[in-house]
Amino acid sequence: MSTFQAPKGTYDLIPPNSATYLAVREAISVPLRNSSHGYIETPGFENVELFARGVGESTDIVTKEMYAFETKGGDKLALRPEGTASVLRAALEANLHKGGNLPVKLWYSGSYYRYERPQKGRYRHFSQVGAEAIGAEDPALDAELIILAHQAYRSLGLRDFRILLNSLGDKECRPVYRAALQDFLRGLQLDEDTRRRIEINPLRVLDDKREAVQEQLIGAPMLRDYLCEACKTYHEQVRELLTAAGVAFEDDPKLVRGLDYYTRTTFEFVHDGLGSQSAVGGGGRYDGLSEMIGGPALPSVGWALGVDRTVLALEAEGITLDIPAATAVYAVPLGEEARRVLFGKVTELRRAGVATDFAYGGKGLKNAMKSANRSGARLALVAGERDLAEGVVQLKDLVSGEQTAIALDAVVDEVRRALG
Ligand code: ATP
Ligand code: MG
Repeated sequence: MSTFQAPKGTYDLIPPNSATYLAVREAISVPLRNSSHGYIETPGFENVELFARGVGESTDIVTKEMYAFETKGGDKLALRPEGTASVLRAALEANLHKGGNLPVKLWYSGSYYRYERPQKGRYRHFSQVGAEAIGAEDPALDAELIILAHQAYRSLGLRDFRILLNSLGDKECRPVYRAALQDFLRGLQLDEDTRRRIEINPLRVLDDKREAVQEQLIGAPMLRDYLCEACKTYHEQVRELLTAAGVAFEDDPKLVRGLDYYTRTTFEFVHDGLGSQSAVGGGGRYDGLSEMIGGPALPSVGWALGVDRTVLALEAEGITLDIPAATAVYAVPLGEEARRVLFGKVTELRRAGVATDFAYGGKGLKNAMKSANRSGARLALVAGERDLAEGVVQLKDLVSGEQTAIALDAVVDEVRRALG
């Protein structure tokens, strides 16, 4: 071990487990790419003001969890704690919304940073794959995104997840509800931090995980009783579309989510095998966000799925993904001449698209065959002086142990045939 370790709250992705992470990112992106989402990549840091305004000054993310810093040049930046504000900023900056083709559908995949108390499923560096549909108000769009996330999880083989669904209302009905909730909350026995929250962001109190708080919330006014007609109709349509698609969900009138920008549809994917870090992904509609960061009115909806927790969910369900072995063919030369010839064959095989590796470092036969087996290869190519003199190499099936001599100049064809 070296003197250095990964910083607190972070971990390295290393083989073989890293292959699962890649496969999860891939699986989540497949339904997105198949539904007209274009790939977007934004910087790992942004002007701190973007998150303060976009995510919300009163959120835990901005007040406690953000890595904010000043550069040598005096710029105030922050490592990105989430993706939506950056993606919307980039879309506005590039005028994607003016192309006359709304919604603008985008997907992303990357690292996010939050200064949190590290525990299983909660890290200071984590990764998300996300999707945003910018500039259209249509319940089918909300439903589409939920259906795509559901499809992604299903394609990974996950079963023990649930979809929680709620509507947060809009700028007509939410303020009325907010005031009613504040009245109710002000009468409760709460600590000072929570009392402050009542004044800044009362809806978040509903989300308090503490038993003592939850007990007092029984009888609290519920947003669904305050939704205006437009929000009610909209929400009903989202629910109907999900039901028609065969995607089961649970109405969760207390689901508020930790970001300020959500309006109307909000949802969370929770997995029952993850203990207290049960949210594997979440999202919702954010009709006011564009204006909050200085853009035009652009009603939008999106989600982000956590890659780390999705991997933990796979483990919890005992699912191992079917990941093809990194190596299909392993070449073992015996002697200098064989080394030269077989190295040439390795290059040829790779150029033909066959995943091939080579016994480097002048290993003896026994050691080289051990490496061949460990590599997960189906086939070994073994050649010594005598084989070369006869113009052949030995093709060994590492599963059956069967060995056949094949012509040197037919290696690529023979290997392909043997691999099926
Ligand atoms: P939580 O309530 O668990 O803190 P969140 O509401 O803050 O989650 P979002 O901001 O909605 O999470 O991010 C979407 C997803 O990203 C989460 O469902 C989760 O899978 C993942 N995620 C968020 N924060 C972390 C973290 N610190 N470590 C690992 N994954 C995370
Ligand atoms: Mg959080």
